[in-house]
Amino acid sequence: AKTIAGEKGTVSERSFVMIKPDGVSRQLVGKIVSRFEERGYKLVAIKSLTPSPALAKEHYIDLASRPFYGGLVKYITSGTPVVAMVWEGKDIIRQGRRIVGATNPLESDPGSVRGQYAVSVGRNLIHASDSFESATKEIDLWFSEAELSSYEPTAWGWVMADN
Ligand code: UDP
Ligand code: MG
Repeated sequence: AKTIAGEKGTVSERSFVMIKPDGVSRQLVGKIVSRFEERGYKLVAIKSLTPSPALAKEHYIDLASRPFYGGLVKYITSGTPVVAMVWEGKDIIRQGRRIVGATNPLESDPGSVRGQYAVSVGRNLIHASDSFESATKEIDLWFSEAELSSYEPTAWGWVMADN
């Protein structure tokens, strides 16, 4: 069934990816976006904004009992914007997590965004949905249906071929 996060396991699967304030402040937006773009994934939506505390809290609600929750919300709502995106394509949720790297940058693969550019877990540059359920919740939280574009990139058939 077609949902806001596309269809799990197909080329229409979608993930929510966010460059956090440190990524914007460090001017890494272009380099990070390029990794998804060059892999062949489709940019479905992108915007920069400073999230409200309510939005940041809801986004990370599953971590509300953790000791770092308050600091995490403060970081995301610092006033330096975030870049919120939706990316689409085959296995984007799992591949997005691989592109981003492990939560603690000291454990991240050196080829990942965090492994290349970050050191601190509290300043790890980027977020990506960790499951289809999270992607559904997060895309719905950050974007309206009208903000999600439907189009076919010129190389789509080549990149997403399944034969
Ligand atoms: N975080 C933190 N300290 C920790 C664990 C997590 O500051 O010990 C922050 C970090 O920014 C991380 C975010 O909380 O990216 C969300 O944590 P999660 O476990 O969901 O990691 P992610 O999915 O971002 O890899
Ligand atoms: Mg997470």
